[in-house]
Amino acid sequence: MAIAYIALGSNLDDPQQQLDRALASLANHPKIALLAVSARYQTAPIGPQQPDFINAAAQLRTTLEPEELLDTLQAIEQQQNRIRTVHWGPRTLDLDILLYDNLTLDTARLTLPHPRMHERAFVLVPLSDIAADLSLPNGQTVRQLLANCSQQGIVKTDRD
Ligand code: ATP
Ligand code: CA
Ligand code: CA
Repeated sequence: MAIAYIALGSNLDDPQQQLDRALASLANHPKIALLAVSARYQTAPIGPQQPDFINAAAQLRTTLEPEELLDTLQAIEQQQNRIRTVHWGPRTLDLDILLYDNLTLDTARLTLPHPRMHERAFVLVPLSDIAADLSLPNGQTVRQLLANCSQQGIVKTDRD
């Protein structure tokens, strides 16, 4: 049994509904319990010019191994018609594993903690809703990481 945190993002085809569907798929998975979900935030995109994203974070309890959890998240992305085009381009759904217990991992498929979460307000703001005092494997808390990054372009939506 592990506790994992994931990031959800969408900027195509009704992003709020994309997140609704993804959260329902996670909640219905026999090996996943959805323990907490953040508010949803509208965030300015990084990378190429594209619509704003809706981002959220969730805490899961799971009996899936890390790679199995990644397989599950990628299957949900596929169910929701994610098409891989440009790097960091627009997408119906992006599900990233931020943290899996206190594990550090660096394989061809999976890096934990997610290697870019430390610098991304669009990840840290929602994550701090549900886990501000959580420590990463390096000992820093989510709150400390967030204090070191600009929160410009991150706006809470009226959905949660
Ligand atoms: P970024 O990783 O910078 O957020 P992205 O989410 O757009 O970019 P993707 O195209 O969704 O990148 O994923 C590329 C690959 O990243 C995936 O095929 C997966 O194998 C790998 N990956 C490595 N670590 C992780 C992780 N912690 N969570 C999700 N995918 C990961
Ligand atoms: Ca991502
Ligand atoms: Ca991804």
